[in-house]
Amino acid sequence: MYEDLLLEVKRPAQYIGHEWNSSRKSFDAAYLKFALSFPDLYEIGMSNLGIRIIYGLLNDLPDVVCERFFAVDGDLEKQLRLSNREILSLESRRKLADFDFIGFSLGSELDYTNVLNILDLSSFPFKASERNHYYPLVIGGGPCTLNPEPMHDFFDLFVIGEAEGPILQILSHYRQNKEAYRAGKISKSQLLFLFSGIEGVYVPSLYKVNYDDTGKIRSFVSNQNNPILKIKKSFVKELASSYYPQKWIVPYTQIIHDRVTVEIMRGCPNRCRFCQARLQYFPLRYRNPELVLNLANDICKDTGYEEISLSGLSVSDYPGLDLLLERLSGLLKPNGVGISLPSIKAKDIVGKASVSIAKFKKTGLTFAPEAGSERLRDLLAKDFNCESFFRALREAYSCGYQHVKLYFMIGLPSEKDDDLDAIVEFSSRVSDLRKELGKPAAAVNISINTLIPKPHTALQWFSMSPLEEIEYKQDYLRNKFKRLKKLKVSFHDPKMSFLEGVLSRGDRRLSSVILNAFNKGARFDAWGSHFDFGLWSSSFQEANIDPYFYLQRRGVDETLPWDFIDTGIPRSVLVEDFNKTIAI
Ligand code: SF4
Repeated sequence: MYEDLLLEVKRPAQYIGHEWNSSRKSFDAAYLKFALSFPDLYEIGMSNLGIRIIYGLLNDLPDVVCERFFAVDGDLEKQLRLSNREILSLESRRKLADFDFIGFSLGSELDYTNVLNILDLSSFPFKASERNHYYPLVIGGGPCTLNPEPMHDFFDLFVIGEAEGPILQILSHYRQNKEAYRAGKISKSQLLFLFSGIEGVYVPSLYKVNYDDTGKIRSFVSNQNNPILKIKKSFVKELASSYYPQKWIVPYTQIIHDRVTVEIMRGCPNRCRFCQARLQYFPLRYRNPELVLNLANDICKDTGYEEISLSGLSVSDYPGLDLLLERLSGLLKPNGVGISLPSIKAKDIVGKASVSIAKFKKTGLTFAPEAGSERLRDLLAKDFNCESFFRALREAYSCGYQHVKLYFMIGLPSEKDDDLDAIVEFSSRVSDLRKELGKPAAAVNISINTLIPKPHTALQWFSMSPLEEIEYKQDYLRNKFKRLKKLKVSFHDPKMSFLEGVLSRGDRRLSSVILNAFNKGARFDAWGSHFDFGLWSSSFQEANIDPYFYLQRRGVDETLPWDFIDTGIPRSVLVEDFNKTIAI
C-alpha cells in the first residue's frame, strides 16, 4: 500500500482506483492474473479505448483477473524509490510480480522509457532473457508493434495488430500449462515457442538478425528452426461479434477524453500514403448502426456522462452517418447527452450531415488538409478537394461554427518554400471566408507536425527531414504567421519528432540506447515538460550509434527491420505507390 505517499503528490486521484464500473473481482480466487499496463499517466491511459477493451474482455472471463498499472509521475516515483516500495495495481494493490502476465500497450515510441520505469519500480530485470519463470511474461501490444524491434530485448512476446483474439489464445495455452511451467517442468522458451504458433504473436528471442558491414540488415532468420518467418498482423474479423466494454469506467479525476466512446469502425477506406494507422487497423470494418445505438444507450445509462464520442479513423466515411446521428440524437438528447465527432471531411458538413452535426457541437471543427499545396496533397494521396472544402466551410459558418482547427505536416518529400507559403495562404483563406457572411473572421488554430515516414507506409523508403531543415521550416512559418492575428500556430517539438522517427524506423540495436537513456533519467519523453534531448544524444553517442542512419533513404530492395510483419497490404502495392510518389 502507498496511500500514505499520496498526500505528498500531485493529482493523487489518479492512483486510487476503485472507480465506478472498475473490476471488483477477487484476486486470490482467479487462476490467471493479468497486469494491464499503460506506460503513461492515468489521464492518458484511461482515454485509450484499447485498454478499456482488453480490461473488460479479460475480466469477463471467470477465472481471470485483470488489474491496471499506469506510469507514475516523477513525484510519486521519487517517493517510491525513497521508501523502497514497488508500484502497485489500482484494483487490489498487488505487485507486478504477483501476476502471470504483464501486457503493455505501446501507443507511442516516446513512452518506451516509461515501460522500463514500470519494470524498474518492480525490481524486474529489464531484459527478457534475464527473467526466469518466476517472473510474469511481458507482452507488448498496440500501434508501436508494427515495428517492435527497438524494444525486442525487454519483451517476451508481442501481439502484432488487434489483441482481442491472440490474447485469449495466449491465456488458453497458458491455462493448460501453468502448473508445469511454474514448477519448471516446461521451460520459458518452450512456452514461448508454443505461443509463437498463434497468429499475430511474435517472439523476438526465436529470431536472429544479421547485419552487413554498412549496418544494413543482411538477414532475419529463425534460430530455432521455427518455420514462421512472416508474422501476420491479427485483426478482429467481425466487429458485430467482437467484445465491446459496456461497463464504462468513470474516473474520479478528469482524463483527456472524459466521455463515453463508441467505436463505429476500424480501418479506413482512404489510402493516405503517410498513414500508419490505416495499416494498423486494416482491413476496413464497420459496426452496424443498431449495435452502435444499443451500445451508446446502454453505456450512457450506466455512467452519467453527458457526452458521447463516435470514434474511428475516418468517421465521416461511415455509411449513413447522418442517419445514425439523427437516430442517436433522438435517443440520447432527452437524457441530456450530446454527441461529438473527431476530425471530419469537408464533404460531410455539406447538406444533411451539417445540420445534424451543427445541432450537437458548434464550438469547433477539425480538418486535416495535411499540406497547403495541391501538389503535396496529391503526393500524400490525401482525398481533399479544395473547392468542396471551402463550399462546405461556408455552410458550416452559416450554421454557426466559429472556430476551426487545421492539421498540417512539414518535411514532406520535395517540399519547397512555396509549399510552406501555401499553408499560410490556405489558413488565411479559412479564417477570412467567415467575413464574406458579414461575420468576424474565424479563429483558426493551426497545428504543424513533422512527417515521419513510418514503417509499412508507401513513404517508408523516403528519408526523414534532418532536424536543422525542420527547424528552418518552423522558423520560416512562424515568421509568416506572426502578422496574422486570427491565426494561432503551434509546432510539434522537432527534436521529439526526430526521436520518434529514429525509434519507429529503428532496429534491434536501439534497445541498448533506450536502456541507456532510461538509466540517465529519461522519462515521459512525449511530454514537453519532461523531454530531455541531451540524454538521448549522449545515449546514442555512448552506444556508438548514429541516429541519422535510421532516417536516411532506404532502397526498395533492402530488408527493413519490420519486413517480417505482414499487415495484409502486399509490399508490391507499397512499392507501386512509392514509385508514383517519386514521379510527383
Ligand atoms: S483518412 Fe486519416 S485514417 Fe484514413 S488513411 Fe487518411 S490519414 Fe489515415
